[in-house]
Amino acid sequence: MGGKPRDLKDILGEVNAVIAEAARVSGRAPEAVEIIGVTKTHGPDLVREALDAGITTFGESRVQEAAWKIQECGGGVDFHLIGHLQSNKVRAALALFPVFHAVDTLKLLEGVERIASEDGQRPEVLLEVNVSGEASKFGFKPDALDSVIERALEMRSLTLSGLMTMAPYTPEIEETRPVFAELRELRDRLEDKFSIGLPHLSMGMSNDYRVAVEEGATWVRLGGVLFGDRPRWKPQQEYRWEP
Ligand SMILES: *Cc1c(COP(=O)(O)O)cnc(C)c1O
Repeated sequence: MGGKPRDLKDILGEVNAVIAEAARVSGRAPEAVEIIGVTKTHGPDLVREALDAGITTFGESRVQEAAWKIQECGGGVDFHLIGHLQSNKVRAALALFPVFHAVDTLKLLEGVERIASEDGQRPEVLLEVNVSGEASKFGFKPDALDSVIERALEMRSLTLSGLMTMAPYTPEIEETRPVFAELRELRDRLEDKFSIGLPHLSMGMSNDYRVAVEEGATWVRLGGVLFGDRPRWKPQQEYRWEP
C-alpha cells in the first residue's frame, strides 16, 4: 500500500455514505444499519481511535484476544463476538460479549443457554446460516433452522434476535446478492411461521457490504475497509485473563 495513512474519520464518512445510499435502495433509513468495527488482531489503540472517529460497536473473533482489548479500553464499549465459538469458552465469552453473531450448532446454542442461566446472563444470539453451502463455512443449513428455532424459543436465558451469514469471497460482488437475499427471505419466512421478530441480519463485510445493505443487513461487520490490512496477531499480546 504505502503512502500516508488516510484519516479514519474520512474513511468512515465514505463508508457511511455508501451505507446510506444502499439503505435507501432497500427502502430503509441509514440508521437502520449499524457498523460493527472488526478490530481482530489490532490493538486497543485502534479501538480508541475508532471510538474517537464515531464507531461505537466492535467485533472480535477470539475470546482471549477480546478480553485483553476490553480490559484495556475500559467499560462502556460494546464488543460483539462475531466468530466461531468453542463450547469450552462459552462462560468466558458470556462475561465479555452481550451479542453472539455466530452460533452455529444446536449444541453450542444449548451450552450458551445453560451457562447464561447459571451465570444470570441474557445474551442476544444470532444463528449463523451457511446459505452458500460451501464446505469450508460454519453455520446451520437453511432447512435445519426451523427445528433449531423451535428449541431456541423455549430458552429463557437468551434472546434470539436474528440471522448471520458470510458470502463466499468474490471480486464480482453482485454474485453475493443471492446469498444475502436468501438470508432475508429465510428470516421473513421464520418470522411468519413462528410469529416472532428476528430484527437483525448480520451480513456484509468490507468486500460486499453495499450489496448486503441493499438486501436488508442491519449489522455490517467491517474490518479492512475501515482499518486497512490486519496486522499479524502476536499471541504474546494476549492478556492472561480468567473469568
Ligand atoms: C474478519 C471478519 C470480518 C471482517 O472482514 P473484513 O473483510 O476485514 O471486513 C467480518 N466478519 C467476520 C465473521 C470476520 O471474521
